Amino acid sequence: MPKTSSSKTTSSSRTAPSSKTTSRSRRPFRVGRSKTGLGLFATKLIRKGSFIIRYTGRMLPNRIADELDTKYLFEVNARWTVDGSSRKNVARYVNHSCRPNAEADVKKRKILISAIKTIHPGDEITYNYGRDYFNAFIKEHGCKCAACHQKKFVVRSKHKRSRKRKSRKRPKS
Ligand SMILES: [Zn+2]
Repeated sequence: MPKTSSSKTTSSSRTAPSSKTTSRSRRPFRVGRSKTGLGLFATKLIRKGSFIIRYTGRMLPNRIADELDTKYLFEVNARWTVDGSSRKNVARYVNHSCRPNAEADVKKRKILISAIKTIHPGDEITYNYGRDYFNAFIKEHGCKCAACHQKKFVVRSKHKRSRKRKSRKRPKS
């Protein structure tokens, strides 16, 4: 299909209707490859504060959920946990980040993920899984989120710099 190349097509409506009307294509994200496996990536601009996706699954009493061997448990309150391990739960692909662009909020036992920053097409959507999850599953192997990756890199380059400085041995007196 040729692009409509007229630079200013001020075609009346502000809310341009998308050509495809299936609910799937309207989603502003897709599942894709990330550093740690699969992740959820924005395909459209997602504005700060807007709802992205709901984390869904079986609602289980906490004492039963505690017995399950899955990483996709989301405790919604002192009594209930959502088991989000089903692949139908696309929100389970949202990875953890220590500097996230989204957050998961519980409202009436519904887990709603929404943007806390403006997310651009191509950006990976992330939220902070919280300290309990971090300590149980991430800490041991080290966090691979972009923020931690960057931190590690900064530490490494600082280390290099200090070694260089030492080897130069410029005596000052
Ligand atoms: Zn991290």
